[in-house]
Amino acid sequence: MDSKLVIGNWKMNGRTAANQALVAGMLADADINRAGVGIAAPDIYLSQLATMLQGSQIAVAAQDASRFAADGAFTGETSAAMLADIGCRYVLVGHSERRQYFAEDNAALSAKLQAVVAAGMVPVLCVGETLAQREAGQVEAVIGQQLEALAAINGQHYVVAYEPVWAIGTGKVATIEQIDEVHKQIRAVVLQCYGASDSIRVLYGGSVKADNADAILSLASVGGALVGGASLEVNGFGKICQAA
Ligand code: PGA
Repeated sequence: MDSKLVIGNWKMNGRTAANQALVAGMLADADINRAGVGIAAPDIYLSQLATMLQGSQIAVAAQDASRFAADGAFTGETSAAMLADIGCRYVLVGHSERRQYFAEDNAALSAKLQAVVAAGMVPVLCVGETLAQREAGQVEAVIGQQLEALAAINGQHYVVAYEPVWAIGTGKVATIEQIDEVHKQIRAVVLQCYGASDSIRVLYGGSVKADNADAILSLASVGGALVGGASLEVNGFGKICQAA
């Protein structure tokens, strides 16, 4: 299996000067400044990030892409082709915050996955259940339905991220057993239904921190981490990258 992948997701955080300092710190940290690490910044700062990361092996990632692939009258949108143009390698698709606040459904997400792949980048499809869904015993069904969006890019190169919604930004981490169980389910569904190669990578996300990264990333079913809050600070992010 390929080495593990760690993507930091800044979400809607950052300012030009602060980004400059943060990324300079990351470039100076050998655990972060290497292949297998990516940073997902707000669109407006992706060019700044791409410029700073030029010549390094850290990948530039976007947090979303327009569902519309072709240029045109889509005010406020950023196309996958534009993201590729400024040097993005990965694009998050269907993060739970997008699903929750922007009502992104599988029709929209299928279009986004296709647009990202067509532009030559690797989509990271985010899936995960809410606490109510977990308590109702619906984890497998909910995630199975979310994975159906992958039918749009059957056989292409993509990454899946499992992020239980109740573990995002809450400090509550899924147990090692819960993570392993869901990751194995996702791998089985993907291998059976969506034509990915055996090297399908499933990242875990949800309150990954320096002190739990070792245990999570040592699982064979975990192909890496999608890191929110802890990616806004060099030391903690470096420790997570070191664990990968
Ligand atoms: P968190 O966010 O690490 O702050 O929980 C993870 C994510 O939403 O990608």
